Amino acid sequence: MKHTQIKSRRDFIKNTAAGTAALTLGFASLQSLAGNGNKQNKPMSGDFNTGFDQQPLPYKYDALEDVIDAMTMEIHYTKHAAAYAKNLKDAAKAEGIDITKPVESVLAEISRYSAKVRNNAGGHYNHEMFWQSMRPKSAKNAPTGKLLAEIESSFTSFASFKEKFSDTAKNRFGSGWAWLYVDANKGLKIGSTPNQDNPLMNISDIKGNPLLGLDVWEHAYYLKYQNKRPDYINNWWDVVNWDYVQQRFEKI
Ligand code: MN
Repeated sequence: MKHTQIKSRRDFIKNTAAGTAALTLGFASLQSLAGNGNKQNKPMSGDFNTGFDQQPLPYKYDALEDVIDAMTMEIHYTKHAAAYAKNLKDAAKAEGIDITKPVESVLAEISRYSAKVRNNAGGHYNHEMFWQSMRPKSAKNAPTGKLLAEIESSFTSFASFKEKFSDTAKNRFGSGWAWLYVDANKGLKIGSTPNQDNPLMNISDIKGNPLLGLDVWEHAYYLKYQNKRPDYINNWWDVVNWDYVQQRFEKI
């Protein structure tokens, strides 16, 4: 092979590598722009591609009795959660949001939008996740495998994890959510957000990928528990769908 041919092949490889690097850089810059240039806000892994439409409830309204009564479940799903989905779509239309994108991508740059988008995108996402994260009551309901090991190493034991999470939910002043989430350093954390905020929002004090969320708005428990939020929280552990939590954990 002549020297010039070798050189030209080398140049081709070099240029291709440079081209790939430039494309990679371009993509990274785009990602950074999507997160408003703030490193903390960059989209995280574990995107669950939540759509804008409310999905069917994965069980009957009375399936979680006697932890959550049928009437609460029906009103919560068909009125409260349905309204978040509808209002989100209305607001998305008004603010030019592409509703074929996952809701997660809207949450990651929520500071760009109105309070209506913030409240309803959060409300819709949080409830879609909430329904999936519950199942009919079963004895000895607990995580297993790698998720259990991670909970134990992060919070000493499953019992102390439940205690800490429950305290966080009980102490949420007013309306909001308690979360188990994975932060940017891949650590398991417990935290709380007000209203319909969640850890995926770039304006949230706690940031990460939620694995499990508990709705502590009064509409979630008042018909059965009235002012006794701690009783609702303590009973709720019996209906947590740990298989679903595990799936989210493995995807992150
Ligand atoms: Mn709710």
